[in-house]
Amino acid sequence: LQFLQDKRVTILGLGATGMSCARFLDRHHIPFSVIDSRACVAGVAQANALPHCLGVYLGGWEKEIIANSEIIIASPGVDINDANIADVIAVGTEVIGDVELFVRVNTKPIVALTGSNGKSTVVSLIAHLAQSCGVNSILAGNIGQPVLDIVERDADLIILELSSFQLETMSKMQAQVGGILNICDDHLDRHQTLENYQAIKQRIYQMSQYCVYNRQDARTLPPKTAEKRLSFGLDQPQQGQFGLIQTDKTYLAFDERTLMATDELPLSGEHNYLNCLAALAYGQLLGWPMTSMLEGLKSFRGLAHRCQVVGSKDGVTWVNDSKATNVGATLAAIEGLANSANKLILIAGGDGKGADFTPLQSAFTDKVDSLIVFGKDKQALAKLKPDAILVDSMHEAVSYAKARVGRGDMVLLSPACASIDMYANYMARGDDFSACVREVQHG
Ligand code: ADP
Repeated sequence: LQFLQDKRVTILGLGATGMSCARFLDRHHIPFSVIDSRACVAGVAQANALPHCLGVYLGGWEKEIIANSEIIIASPGVDINDANIADVIAVGTEVIGDVELFVRVNTKPIVALTGSNGKSTVVSLIAHLAQSCGVNSILAGNIGQPVLDIVERDADLIILELSSFQLETMSKMQAQVGGILNICDDHLDRHQTLENYQAIKQRIYQMSQYCVYNRQDARTLPPKTAEKRLSFGLDQPQQGQFGLIQTDKTYLAFDERTLMATDELPLSGEHNYLNCLAALAYGQLLGWPMTSMLEGLKSFRGLAHRCQVVGSKDGVTWVNDSKATNVGATLAAIEGLANSANKLILIAGGDGKGADFTPLQSAFTDKVDSLIVFGKDKQALAKLKPDAILVDSMHEAVSYAKARVGRGDMVLLSPACASIDMYANYMARGDDFSACVREVQHG
């Protein structure tokens, strides 16, 4: 922690991550200040009570404090490019995030993963495979506990889920394996252009010994100079690649070798084949036994709110994919699930965060039989399908769907939008969907 000694250290943002930074610095006897633009935050009393906290400044980005800082630790929720912050950071001041701080003090092996969609699913899969192989791992970063809360814990392996906001302030990670699942239009409100967002995600490769990538998504390709690489994709694998082989059935495969039929996977949706292949690629590079990993895949039930079956009565399957908060995620869910349904009824809508919905149009036309929309951006979504139904609530959407479905059909909530216009978060939205489904099923 030499680099923090006798420096003026400031934490930007006092959410769960900011608090974990404050506790960490305090444990190491390093004095710090905290700033948050919000006037009222839950952790103030706790932060103030830490003996090495020099002060908590709320209600704006206190210029003088930022300008006088020698090291700034920014929470991922804080936009460091915001003019109020960027313009006052002194030349030479180091701006890092909690994960960067973590990797500078951590001594355990790390693997890291980023992407626009499917990150949490894949890192959870890797952790699940680790368990099947007897490896004691900890999952952290953009999922689960803040990294600085687990830095002292015992483990054989740290599995990091990294968002673009975390990668933006990272430079010193030395991961054994680093990978990008996919890159699509998301968070451009903060990263401005897709090229910039891609460049930030690609930083993961510079900080990893092996690069794992999606060969069907050109934006994830590692630079030519990265020699140690391993790819996955939903096409037939070439030598040394993970992919799918179609014979009598569809199989997960490596090289020319089939590994396991996809109908043995408990996860629904073809995009999850890709997630399984990505996780196997990590395990293989870590030297885990393939048979134990394949056993592990059979018992991974997936995460709540991600293409999760929440009802199946009278032959109708109800799927909660509330975590699909952007166009790419919903596209993957439609494409992944449409083949397993007779008729597909999609419920979508919410706050589109200014995204362009047009990439959904052909999937709406070819794969969605009925589109029901609600929330702030329902009009924009409805424009993409002539007979779309506009409703005002989840309850109305579910009741409408219920009246039109029959045996073999599927109703999918995959909003392509954030939930903040109507709910506290995507979990509350998914729970509301599940509650409405229970109600119509028993009503
Ligand atoms: P993240 O952590 O990146 O937000 P999650 O694993 O929580 O990803 O999944 C979020 C949503 O992304 C899911 O609900 C699903 O709609 C979609 N999704 C999951 N896996 C993939 C994938 N491999 N490609 C594209 N979309 C995916």
